[in-house]
Amino acid sequence: MPRRRPMGRRATVFWGLTALACAPQSTASPNPEAKAHPLGYRVVHGWPHLPLGELLGQVSGVGLDSRGTVIVFRRGQRSWPFPSDSLRTDPIEAPTILLFDSASGRQLSAWGAGRFAMPHGLTVDSRDNVWVTDVALHQVFKFTQDGALLLTLGERGVPGDDSVHFDRPTDVAVAPDGSFYVSDGYRNSRVVRFSKEGRYLFSWGRKGNRPGEFDVPHSIARDAAGQIYVADRSNARIQVFDSVGHFLAEWKGSELGRPWAVRVGPEGYLYVVDGGDQPEAPPDRARVLKLTREGRVIESFGSFGNYDGQFVWPHAVAVAPGGTVYVGDVSTGMRVQKFIH
Ligand code: ZN
Repeated sequence: MPRRRPMGRRATVFWGLTALACAPQSTASPNPEAKAHPLGYRVVHGWPHLPLGELLGQVSGVGLDSRGTVIVFRRGQRSWPFPSDSLRTDPIEAPTILLFDSASGRQLSAWGAGRFAMPHGLTVDSRDNVWVTDVALHQVFKFTQDGALLLTLGERGVPGDDSVHFDRPTDVAVAPDGSFYVSDGYRNSRVVRFSKEGRYLFSWGRKGNRPGEFDVPHSIARDAAGQIYVADRSNARIQVFDSVGHFLAEWKGSELGRPWAVRVGPEGYLYVVDGGDQPEAPPDRARVLKLTREGRVIESFGSFGNYDGQFVWPHAVAVAPGGTVYVGDVSTGMRVQKFIH
């Protein structure tokens, strides 16, 4: 990564909770602490092992269960029809959920064949349930880890913005009591909260760029204290809310880039995928950032490219205890990579 010039204490304050909401993007300064670890993150070559002849395709989601099994949500032969915005709704024939042993990279099982049309977000909750969103079907699903369907929200193929419809829902965050939040999505501009049974509770947000508004809420995460983090992708920011949707802060600036995905790691740090500036500018930046809960970037790794350890369109991130990071890549990236510290 480029050498960062020390900017003094003021730059650190910029990334604090209190200073961010009113700071324009153009004044963002590099954080002197945003430097790589002396050894940095290193990609694990040859991870995962795929069966002979198997191609992952675009990997839109990745998560980890309580045993460290890596769960991948992939599109197989189907790709987002960029730059078209018209999505097919017929199901992908191949299995779309693949489970890998984290240490060996060996594929353990696969399911989700003939079910999904455009896989998007994947979240594993504390009970090892697997939650996924499908942006072509406008639906959110909850499964057991071996693929038994527990809950379906949204009407298949029917977009909407009421309590029983979504419009391209992107991601799910689950609270310990089983209630959950859905970021919705590519076309709606809101976060919806449901009870653990899937009953609509409330929602917040509308299209815009002011506090509490969204422009493609693309990923959502919840920390142990109940705070909600939304990767507000087209607004190039992370927004922070309390558990009932009150706006707390926004994190925005050149150091943060354009957040596509956000997750809270086991140690309480946030991990954000910066997907670059496309389509407004060439996708010449792609990286993973590690942040404190106050939004201060303390480490980053990765760059745009297609060699090992690089990303084309990094779309999803998952973090294991100890800091091992998994990153899913869409567009022509089409893989999941494992990084160790
Ligand atoms: Zn996406």
